[in-house]
Amino acid sequence: MGGITILLRFSTLKLSMNIDFLIVGQGLAGSLLAWNLLKAGCKVLVIDNCHSGSATRVGAGIVNTVTGPRLAPCWRLEQLLADCRKTYRFIGEELGNTYYREKELVRFFKNDEERQLWKQKRSASGTNRYLGAMRPPGWMPEAVLDPFGSFSPGGSGHLDMKSLVEDLRSIFAYQGCLIKEYLHYENIVPVKSGLRWKTWNVGKVIFCEGHEVRNNPWFQWLPFKLAKGEILDLKIQQSTPFRQILNSGKWLLPLGNNSYRAGSTYCWDPIDTNSTEAGKVEIISGLKTFLKLPFEVTAQRAGIRPTVKDYKPVLGMHPKFTNLGIFNGLGSKGAFMAPFFAHQMANYLHAGEPLEEEVNLLRFA
Ligand SMILES: Cc1cc2nc3c(=O)[nH]c(=O)nc-3n(C[C@H](O)[C@H](O)[C@H](O)COP(=O)(O)OP(=O)(O)OC[C@H]3O[C@@H](n4cnc5c(N)ncnc54)[C@H](O)[C@@H]3O)c2cc1C
Repeated sequence: MGGITILLRFSTLKLSMNIDFLIVGQGLAGSLLAWNLLKAGCKVLVIDNCHSGSATRVGAGIVNTVTGPRLAPCWRLEQLLADCRKTYRFIGEELGNTYYREKELVRFFKNDEERQLWKQKRSASGTNRYLGAMRPPGWMPEAVLDPFGSFSPGGSGHLDMKSLVEDLRSIFAYQGCLIKEYLHYENIVPVKSGLRWKTWNVGKVIFCEGHEVRNNPWFQWLPFKLAKGEILDLKIQQSTPFRQILNSGKWLLPLGNNSYRAGSTYCWDPIDTNSTEAGKVEIISGLKTFLKLPFEVTAQRAGIRPTVKDYKPVLGMHPKFTNLGIFNGLGSKGAFMAPFFAHQMANYLHAGEPLEEEVNLLRFA
């Protein structure tokens, strides 16, 4: 981080008994929401127990603009990607670090049908630059198997989610607006002026708890479809390390110094944060469909993606308990979606700007 001077640019929160917003959870969602609200001059307190299964601390942070078998560009690609680049660059400049990097992603065609589909889509749209250019088979013959060739979707990148939230954690702690503990729901008490949590008078509580939302007594009714995911850390000894993210169902993300992250699995039952042998085997077999090089597994972790039934974020205030709100549902695309919707939620909270209907929690009420 870039030293003490950047800290002074923030409006420092003096320890006060009155706060505008209590933010529960300091994963990507809570961190970016708190950042936006502090920037707007609000009094914010963040509480987080740093759960080891937090998606942000396990997830890879890949921004992949063309996903799924239909080779469709991501939902609201242009708009969300622009905000993603701008926000991470801005925070990086403030904190003196680089969190987001544009990174080429090489997606291998699984078969000839997929390659034909790419051609159709590319020529039908004409201007669809996100489908990139096709590469014939034999891209790096000593290192990868690509019998059907590959393409590189435009606009892909990588967010170092863990460093971002850790640096923001230091900033929040320095400003005295971070409490490192678990929030027990029964400690939120309605009072005449709003809410009380311990000794704090709180205007609104905004829950950014990721998958722990399933324990939240006020928001359990939202249709979350949590998805457990496992990842591996690897070492690959090679003279010319990959610079690109490789993807063929399973992905391989270069982290430097011959270290890589690989993933991931999707599991809907059981939803826990235990690493499994089955998860490891699944990732390794997936890698071997395109990776020729030997590798050593150095670590394995599991986290839980906070996905909602319609795969969109969920924002807004509880229809009955109007001092309680939520910012969640980032699913498997947190790095891509968080900046735009954290901004929207913050503007809603401090400036009363409207939320879009398609992400407002009231769509499920
Ligand atoms: C295996 C895997 C791979 C992934 N890969 C990618 C990827 O490549 N690209 C991408 O964009 N996204 C990826 N994701 C998804 C991404 O990680 C999530 O979308 C994002 O991190 C969700 O952030 P969040 O803040 O909503 O939740 P979380 O990161 O889970 O944060 C919630 C925080 O709230 C805290 N908390 C909860 N309840 C309480 C409480 N009562 N009191 C105090 N603290 C509390 C937790 O400790 C935690 O720190 C992946 C996820 C997984 C699991």
